[in-house]
Amino acid sequence: MSLQKTINGLIRDVPDYPQPGVLFKDITPLLHDAVAFQAVVSAIAAEAGPVDKVAGLEARGFLLAAPVALELGAGLVPVRKSGKLPWETYAETYDLEYGTATIEVHRDAFAPGDRVLIVDDVLATGGTAEAAASLVRQAGAEVAGLSVLMELTFLNGRDRFTDLRIHSLVAV
Ligand code: IMP
Repeated sequence: MSLQKTINGLIRDVPDYPQPGVLFKDITPLLHDAVAFQAVVSAIAAEAGPVDKVAGLEARGFLLAAPVALELGAGLVPVRKSGKLPWETYAETYDLEYGTATIEVHRDAFAPGDRVLIVDDVLATGGTAEAAASLVRQAGAEVAGLSVLMELTFLNGRDRFTDLRIHSLVAV
């Protein structure tokens, strides 16, 4: 079976979560499957090119970014929601459907010029990933690419990025 089919078979659609009208893509069945999990991590790493750091977006991005970083021999940088990191941070605020959100990274997370792969589970509207890319640049590093397990193409998140390598293992 192709990796795409395996992934599609192991992502669960949960209607009306976290709010009515949303069809949530739940990746936990895929994480439960050791063979599929390893295949996904290896596929993301294989597409990465040379990188110094892998930045994982809270929270499900952490679950993919950590093993990808190990496979690439790169460092891991957690990009967290506001107020979760204990030390000095750079912050980036972005718009949500209702209101705004802020993400942060530690000020010493990147060395100048580090090549950074941003990893998350799902690319939806692209707002989170766009803010993460701004954060990486604000911290003096270079965004080498964005890798996600699943891209929701009907939300056109990809259109926000003109100059970024975006890789998704499956697109729906
Ligand atoms: P965006 O900012 O609209 O692209 O939303 C992407 C962020 O929301 C990512 O960090 C995802 O983890 C999360 N997200 C949005 N939709 C889903 C979904 O259907 N399943 C899992 N995560 C989602």
